[in-house]
This record gives sequence, C-alpha cells and structure tokens, in this order.
Amino acid sequence: MLELLKKSATEQSEAIKNKEISAVELVRASLERINALDEKLGAFNSLTEETALETAKKVDEKVANGEDIPLFAGVPLALKDNMNLIGSKTTASSKILENFVSPYNATVTQKLVDNLIPIVGKANLDEFAMGSSNENSAFKKVHNPWNLNKVPGGSSGGSAASVAACEATLALGSDTGGSIRLPASFCGIVGMKPTYGKVSRYGLIAFASSLDQIGPFARTVEDAATLLEIISGYDPHDSTSLKLPVENYRASLNNDLKGIKIGLVKELVAEGLAPDVEKAVKQAVETYKSLGAEIVEVSLPNIKHSIGIYYILATAECSSNLARFDGVRYGYRTANPENLMELYCKSRAEGFGPEVKRRIMLGTYALSSGYYDAYYKKAQQMRRIVTNDFLAAFEKVDALIAPTCPNTAFDLGAKAEDPLAMYLTDIATIGANLAGIPAMSVPAGFDADGMPIGLQIMAPQLQEAKMFNVAYKFEQSHDYYKKIANI
Ligand code: GLN
Repeated sequence: MLELLKKSATEQSEAIKNKEISAVELVRASLERINALDEKLGAFNSLTEETALETAKKVDEKVANGEDIPLFAGVPLALKDNMNLIGSKTTASSKILENFVSPYNATVTQKLVDNLIPIVGKANLDEFAMGSSNENSAFKKVHNPWNLNKVPGGSSGGSAASVAACEATLALGSDTGGSIRLPASFCGIVGMKPTYGKVSRYGLIAFASSLDQIGPFARTVEDAATLLEIISGYDPHDSTSLKLPVENYRASLNNDLKGIKIGLVKELVAEGLAPDVEKAVKQAVETYKSLGAEIVEVSLPNIKHSIGIYYILATAECSSNLARFDGVRYGYRTANPENLMELYCKSRAEGFGPEVKRRIMLGTYALSSGYYDAYYKKAQQMRRIVTNDFLAAFEKVDALIAPTCPNTAFDLGAKAEDPLAMYLTDIATIGANLAGIPAMSVPAGFDADGMPIGLQIMAPQLQEAKMFNVAYKFEQSHDYYKKIANI
C-alpha cells in the first residue's frame, strides 16, 4: 500500500478512474498510515475518517456507474487546522479554540467537497499560523519526516510533513510570510502561494488579512498546479477575491523555456547562506541555462527591510484580527470570572500561547496613537517601496529565483527561545507576501546531512501559469522530487 500512497495525485486519480484501485482503498491506506506514523510525526490535530470514507464511497459509486469524476476525486488531502470544515474541530492549534467546532465550510473546503476530494484530517500548525518551525502549536510539535529531531518548518508544518511522509497525497496551507513555502522546502515537497486574491480566504482563521493566502502542497509541480486550479476562483464572501476566470495551469507546464529570462536575486544569495544551499541554487542556475533560459542577476535593494516591515504589519493586523477571541463569542472562557473585564483578560491570558501574546502586544503598540506614524505608517510606506523593487525587477525578467530559506531544517529547540533568530528564517519568503505576487518552493537537492533544499520561484502578479512552467521544467530535469522521506 505504501507504493500506492507514494504515487502522485495525478497517478492516483488515474488509477481510480481506470478502476485499478478504489477510492475507499486509497483513503483507508492513508488513514492506516496516519494511525501508524503520526504518533512520531505529530502532523495531525484530528482525523476526519468518517467524512473521508463517505466521500471516497461516493467516488467509487460514480466510477462504478460509469460517470465522470472531477479532478483528484478520491485523493486524500490534509487540511490545515485553521480552515473550517463543517462539523469538525478547527483549533488553529490554540488552546483558545481547542473545542471550537466549525459551523460552516470555508470556500476552499467547499470546493474540495464539491470535487469529491476526501479530507482525511486537520493538520497541525503553529498557533494561529504564527511561527516558522511548528513548535508554537499549543498541542504538540511536528517532526520532520526526513529526520525526526528536526523541525518541519512552519507555520503549515503538519500539512507539509503529512505530504512528505505520504500520510496524505495533497494538503492545503496558508502563507502570510512564507508558511507554505518554508515547510515545503524543509520537507522536500512542492508548496505554492498564489497571487493575493486568487484563492478565497472565507473560512480561514485570519492572521494578517493583507498578506494571508491559501495554497497547495503536493509532491509534484503538476499536482500543485492542478490543486490550485481546483481551489481558486472568485468568491463574493471574500472582498479581496479577484473576479477572474479559473485557469488551466496544466496546459502550459511543459512549454519550452528558450528565450525566457530568469532573474537570480542577488541579495538572497549573499552572506549568511548555508554553503549547501548556495551550491544547490548555483546548480539550479546551470539547469536553467541548459534548458535555454537566460539567467541575469537582479537586485531587490530593499528586500533586507522586509522582515522589519512584516513584523510590524503582520503583528498590527493580528492584534486587530485576534480581538474577536474574547471569551464571549468563540472558544475558551475562563472559569468563574468576577466581572466582565476579568472574563476578557483571563480568557485571553489563559487561552493564547506566548508567541501569540508577543505579537498582539507588538501590534497593539505599533498601532497606538503617538507611535502609529513612526511604525505602522512607515511600514506601509516601506511595503510600497519593496513592491516597487519587484515591479522594477519584473520589467527585466519573467521570473525570479532564490533560495526558499538560507538554511535547511534546523534541530527542534534550536531557535525556539530566540524569536529574532526564528524571524530571520523568513528573509527570502516575506517579500512575495508584501508584493502580493505568486511564489513557490520546489525540491532542489539535499544538504550533506540528507535534508531537503528548496528553490524558490517568484513571478509577477497573476503569472501563475508562467511560474508553474518554470518550476515544472526544473523539476523534470532532476530526480529530487522522486526521493521520498524514508520513514
Ligand atoms: N513565519 C512567519 C510568521 O511567523 C510566517 C507565518 C505565516 O506565513 N503564516 O509570521
């Protein structure tokens, strides 16, 4: 059965259509693997076995009746536990939502349901998606399938680990500052953040609304592109949703790269880069040259400020978004408060973890009168300047490449006590969120310890098709993506 689980979603759905396997068999295999492995991995907060099997049964019935089935019908998927699935717990890995049951489906979830994609469980994350290592979950840490002593990356660590360990074939994550791409790179899989507005966030627990995007995880570029096609599209429930037709990204995956211009981001291949990561990026440059692309060095002079900008804007937005968790309307409420103020204060003090509290305090400070101009407004102005850097770069090139992270997965605990060191792991990913552009991570080799390295590819807004094409050609030139964590 492991051989079956190791196949791509495209292969698995072909096998279901051709009646080589049933969807129920496949979903059972996925659930069995989760039950066997997840104690060591910690990728799931909860399983949704019944609904997954019900969905699989529907797929098998359709196949038996000779009906057409949608793309990826029957293929097991892990849903990050900050997206609502009706009737299941949506905890955001926070004590404050530990017993919160979703009253409705997120738009992405509804699209999965409509496409008969079985959701096998809710994937662990950093509390409220705040973190880079998945050590900030209130419940348990996620371990990296390539080495259980290492972090999987965050905040969508459970989503990435589950796909890398073949517990699920696909997953959804959310990316506010790199939370899809970083864990994809640490776990050796494909992870993609779409253009801001491509995928509805209705039913996603908001972290920083001007940055949040939902996106796919998969083990191949083709699978990620197909899953994006399934979850994207206009949604009147999200005011930032773009009114554009859904695209078919598969059609152009294999386009020739001759004549394409790719920019290597100078500032992201500079000092501080781990030597093995640098080597992998240089090899990627050679691969692209051999595919006929022209590689030029490109500068994003203000990218170095992106962490500072992000940690003001994201914390400011989260301090506002998380105000709704007051012990009255959602989730956890303190026992026996003396008065209303104590109910608010104690519910929040007892319900939120330390990183979430740090961010609420930082964000509240940045927005407070007297400091607003110095911090929040300044950060907004700087966001525009970083965005302009990207726009200028895309005047010269079709896509940009850079490492996804300056280093590979680090040991559990290595940065947990040092928030600043943790924030620095986001240096290469945050820029794309500030500029609202699509970006993805693809497997690009391994370091000396056998840990995966990710290559990041970025494209102008709404140029997902071009980005997938650039990613696919690279993927198909190597065997990296075929190597699967031996767990
Ligand atoms: N690591 C970043 C943070 O801690 C990004 C998180 C995310 O993209 N959700 O905020």
